[in-house]
Parts: sequence; C-alpha cells; structure tokens
Amino acid sequence: MALPFPSGAAVSATSVSAESAALLALADRYYVPVYRPRRIVLERGQGSRVWDSEGRDYIDFSAGIAVNSLGHADPELVAALQTQATRLWHTSNVFVSEPPLRLAEELVAASAFAERVYLCNSGTEANEAAIKLVRKWAATAGRPPERRVILTFHGSFHGRTLAAVTATAQPKYQQGYEPLPGGFRYCDYNDLAAAEAAMAAGDVAAVLVEPVQGEGGVVPAADGFLAGLRALCGRHDALLVYDEIQCGMGRSGKLWAWQNDGVAPDILCIAKALGAGFPIGAMLVGARAAETWQFGAHGTTFGGNPLAAAVARVALRRLAEPELLANVARQAAALRRGLAEINDSLGLFEQVRGRGLMLGAVLAKPWRGKAGAALDLAAEHGLLLLQAGPDVLRLVPALNIGDDEVATGLQRLTAALQAFAKS
Ligand SMILES: *Cc1c(COP(=O)(O)O)cnc(C)c1O
Repeated sequence: MALPFPSGAAVSATSVSAESAALLALADRYYVPVYRPRRIVLERGQGSRVWDSEGRDYIDFSAGIAVNSLGHADPELVAALQTQATRLWHTSNVFVSEPPLRLAEELVAASAFAERVYLCNSGTEANEAAIKLVRKWAATAGRPPERRVILTFHGSFHGRTLAAVTATAQPKYQQGYEPLPGGFRYCDYNDLAAAEAAMAAGDVAAVLVEPVQGEGGVVPAADGFLAGLRALCGRHDALLVYDEIQCGMGRSGKLWAWQNDGVAPDILCIAKALGAGFPIGAMLVGARAAETWQFGAHGTTFGGNPLAAAVARVALRRLAEPELLANVARQAAALRRGLAEINDSLGLFEQVRGRGLMLGAVLAKPWRGKAGAALDLAAEHGLLLLQAGPDVLRLVPALNIGDDEVATGLQRLTAALQAFAKS
C-alpha cells in the first residue's frame, strides 16, 4: 500500500517521474488535442481512493465525472465483468444474449414508468436516440417537420453529437459546427413562464430537460418546474424527456432524480453511472412512445453489449438499494457540513447547491472564473475534484463513498482552499 498522501504538504502535482512525463508527452503528441488532462498518470483505484504513477494517493470526489458510481475495483462488478468475459463479449443486435435482455427487464421494473428500453453506448447516444424518437413520434402523428420542435434550456448539456450539441443550449459547445440541425428552441431553465411562451405556438413536440443541470453549474429544477413542464406537455401534446445521464442512478438520493419531484417523464436517458465505469447508455420509453419505433427505425452495433450489460445489472441492483441511497443522503450532509465550515473560515462560496451527491460550490465574486486554479490545488493536496464551468466546484463522488474517505477528502479540500484563498 502506498503511504497516505501528506495532507496539506506543498507537493506539486506536476512533479512526475521521467516515465510519467514520457506518457503524458504521448497525449500531447498523439491525441487530437480536445482534452487538457491533468499532469498526472492514474494507475489504480480502490473504493474512493486512486493512486498515480508516483504512488501518491487521491481521494476521488470526481468519480470519472459521476461515472464510477460504486467506486473503483468493486469486487462484485469485477466478478460480473470477468465472468461474462469468459463467456461472450459481443453478439450485435442481430442476435441476443441474456445480460442485456435481463438488464432491459430490470430497467423497466425499476423505472416506475417505462415500457421499453433502447440500449446504447454513451450519454449522447441516448439523447440522440430520444431526439430521433421524438421526431418519429411527431411524424407518425401526422405533424409536419416545422411542428416537431424540441424545447431545451440555457445552461443544459446533452452531449457532443451534432443533434445533442444542438440541444445543448450553450454557445461554447456549438460555435464552429454550423449549420446545426434545425427544430430546436431554447429558453431559461427554471422559468416556467418562458417555457409557456416558447410552447404557445403549439409546434413543440417535446421538452428535453435535466432534472438537475450538471455541466451548466449543478442547478436543480426549482420546486414545481418539472410539474409545470409536465402540464405544458399535456396541454400541447408534447413528450417530456428527462436527461438523467448525470443526475440519475441514485446520485440525487433517489434512484431517479425526477422522483424528488414526483413527475414521471415519457422518455428517460441515462448513461454515466449505469455502467459504473463500463461504457453503456440507455433510453427508457413510456407508454406514449414505446411503440413508435418499429423494425429498422434506429440501431447500433455495440449497444446492449453483454460485457456492459453484465456490469450494469449489478450496478442497477446496488444503486437501487435503500442502504446505498441512505449513504448518499448521509455523505451529502457530511459534505455540505464540511463545505459550510470551509466557507465560515474562508468565505469563498456564494452558495452550495445540488441534490444528493451532486454538489456545486459556487465561487463568490472575487473568485469567479478561478475554479480551474482550485482544482489544481486540490490535486496537489491529494483530491480529485471537478468544476462545472469556471465558477463552480463540482463534487460528484462515488455513491458508496465511506465516512473516512469523505472526512479525509474534506481535510484535503480545506488545505487546498486555504492555499487558494491566499493565492
Ligand atoms: C455527460 C452528459 C451527457 C453526455 O454523455 P456522454 O457519455 O459524454 O456522451 C449528456 N447529458 C448529460 C446531462 C451529461 O452529464
């Protein structure tokens, strides 16, 4: 076992060995440079701890961007993957195998609304499927193309394929990719009057919304917002589509984030935590659109991969357990207390918001735009942290994170933010 990281010590995360520096140089040389990875090389993980190539350990408050929902190297997930790996890796959807069939059955049973499931490989693919399904649903009902508008919200994030990035109402993700597909309209999140106005013409076929906005700054739906959208969708015969790719699968404290508001969707998209680190996505469809797609309407080669499905079955069962959801509430309260204490002494945050283990600490005015610098210091102090835009520190740890890991993570965060406040 590596020694615990010396908390508070001024060790630069950029002090990597020659071998690690050579590896990082490969990223610089060979990757299409769309990412700017931190200058450390992660080697292994256990629970909510990760070790880099220098043997330094980190508490993981990032979980691979809300993906490693059960931490690293969970024995049951490892066993499910290994067992399936010795049996059957891939069939394509021309043939079936048991793991994805069972997963579909279990997702429908757990969904509290869905009739059918479409399995895919990522979040953006799930949203792409939903966008296409909405269009086909409206077309089948005889609506002309100009009456198949999809309403989405400023600050949203729905992924990077061309349709999903068009649904993503943030210019920074869209610039340079024009011409974008048509038939999307945007309005302000949590502004029901704006949504009502945007739907007044009766040409909206669906509303696509995150019950908690993630990349847009960790912003939960305001009380009554989802219910209001549901009512508008009813009035205008539109589908309500939730993107729970980040906020779903237990992260909010309930299995589905929408259950916090009690307003079920017609379509639900999930991905990130579903495979607990193995790539998989899914679109769940309720009664209104479950029979819309027929043979040949859409498809994927890899979707429903048996390895991914075998892992996701375990993840789904574990993430739905009351003990796990109770841990989300418990650790969320501990993190909120810790952040409040940090703020009492340092006054860095204007607000801490979110739901369950999806928390955003919004930097106060003097610190705006500096989330990246806080993340650098966190890594130097042995803590993996995320941002959601330039002003928000984002905490999305594994949902089974333990008391010790939270306590140590908060100690390291405190030390890092003390340094940040002085910078
Ligand atoms: C991450 C994310 C996506 C995109 O998922 P990918 O797997 O990166 O394609 C879509 N919507 C939300 C809310 C997300 O957080």
